[in-house]
Amino acid sequence: RGAEHEPALELRDLTRHFGPVRAVDGVTLSVGRGEVVGLVGESGSGKSTVGRIAVRLDEPTSGSVHIAGTDVTSLSRRRLRPLRRKFHLVFQDPSSSLDPRMTIAEIIAEPLKLHRIAKGDEARRRVEKLLRQVGLRPEQADRHPHQLSGGQRQRVSIARALSCEPDLVVADEPTSALDVSVQASVLNLMADLQRDRGFGCLFITHDLAAVEFLADRIAVMYLGQIVEQAPTAGLFADPKHPYTQALLSAAPVPDPAAQRTRERIVLSGELPSPLHPPSGCRFHTRCPLAVDRCGTEIPALRILPDGQRQAACHLVAEDGTAPDASAATVQ
Ligand code: SF4
Ligand code: MG
Repeated sequence: RGAEHEPALELRDLTRHFGPVRAVDGVTLSVGRGEVVGLVGESGSGKSTVGRIAVRLDEPTSGSVHIAGTDVTSLSRRRLRPLRRKFHLVFQDPSSSLDPRMTIAEIIAEPLKLHRIAKGDEARRRVEKLLRQVGLRPEQADRHPHQLSGGQRQRVSIARALSCEPDLVVADEPTSALDVSVQASVLNLMADLQRDRGFGCLFITHDLAAVEFLADRIAVMYLGQIVEQAPTAGLFADPKHPYTQALLSAAPVPDPAAQRTRERIVLSGELPSPLHPPSGCRFHTRCPLAVDRCGTEIPALRILPDGQRQAACHLVAEDGTAPDASAATVQ
């Protein structure tokens, strides 16, 4: 197969241990060309670590990372450098990821120069075009990051990420450091750019409304593992895993006309430490439906009969019927 048919990102059985801490423990996930995959979970679930490994800012303890068909798992810095134009990370806080001494033009043009795509007038022309595409004015090219608002700075980091026309963009909580009032406009921008340019996107967030808006497919992480994966509409309409049910029950319904009424499922206790993950199903210490075997038998992440969904729970039936965690929750 040609590289153009390979997924934008393929993570296979990824683990990342920090000493005895199993931050990521057996994650397999792919992002197709032009697909947006949402990765959701509480802080401490390992989702940011997955994102950092996906763009080779961190190395996995085991498992592999393929970007657009190339195995980048153990490439040296030198061999990785020419491939870096294929993928980019958009960070949570643009204030800390943009160099305050550089102008906006220099920040956006830097990858173009690094990868010898454009320099001089041609680079400037591309910078101005990118600025317009992210909703900024070409005159803003000569400003410095501190002269822009938080939302404008995040637009600059998006322009920089897209400057080399990457196959993959990993966005880790790209709007959570922004004022609520500008979050929607930055999400809209990302959706428009993604649709126009067709890059694959791994969108890491705890914001379920954002992920419902942007993602084609969603993977839910709990304590370093994926517990459920499904196309977005199916996940919201019929969450299979009790943990997903709890997450969704806590989220406000963005469109009241959707008439989604859910019983709020209140989980007991804190997220356990990944230093000592619970035996059996890692969620059993907080799961309202846990039965005896949940403490001893690890539930496999099974492909459900529709062929598109996966869930790791002993109580999800062979035919894909889900248990109902809200029924078991003491209100
Ligand atoms: Fe809950 Fe058991 Fe399913 Fe884990 S396997 S989610 S503890 S019911
Ligand atoms: Mg994080």
